[in-house]
This record gives sequence, C-alpha cells and structure tokens, in this order.
Amino acid sequence: MSLKILDACINCDVCESECPNGAISQGPEIYQIDPSKCTECVGHFETSQCTEVCPVECIIVDPEHIETKQQLFEKYQKLGRVFTSFRNKQ
Ligand code: SF4
Ligand code: SF4
Repeated sequence: MSLKILDACINCDVCESECPNGAISQGPEIYQIDPSKCTECVGHFETSQCTEVCPVECIIVDPEHIETKQQLFEKYQKLGRVFTSFRNKQ
C-alpha cells in the first residue's frame, strides 16, 4: 500500500526530504504523497521513513491503494529504471 497524509499534518516539512522516491510534496493545504511513487520504502529501507519522522503521526497506510510487497518492489524497480533513463538522457 502507498501511504497517505491526513489533515492533521502541520506542514512541518520534515518528511519530504526523507522520502527516497521523491513521493512527498507540499499540496495546496497540507503535504501529500504521490501513490505512483510511494513504495512504503520497499527497496530502500526496512521501514517507512516518513512515518518515523512525522511529529504528529498523521501518515497512514492508504486503504485505497492496496499493494503487496511484491508489487511495491516492482514499483521500486520501475522507478529505478525511470531515474536511470532520465540520467542517461542528460
Ligand atoms: Fe516515501 Fe517511504 Fe513515505 Fe512512501 S513510505 S512516502 S516511499 S518515505
Ligand atoms: Fe506533515 Fe508529518 Fe510531513 Fe510534517 S512530517 S509535513 S506533519 S506529514
């Protein structure tokens, strides 16, 4: 599952730089997670980095984006290929 940020977010900005996939950004009112980039940190870390740093514990698993560990790992691999292809074009 990808994670999502709840309205309790205080816009502290701590989580954005912790995400290895660049999935977190500032939205119109609170920070948000792009489900196409969130792998629950699978492929990078054992635990979700954003949930570990959030001071108000407002990041939860998103029941609307249910994925298995295998699917999350495949997403991680796909993101890696996108980054590599982008780098090779520069
Ligand atoms: Fe990024 Fe990991 Fe948080 Fe997903 S769980 S948003 S990949 S830091
Ligand atoms: Fe919001 Fe938590 Fe991220 Fe801070 S760490 S911006 S409170 S989601």
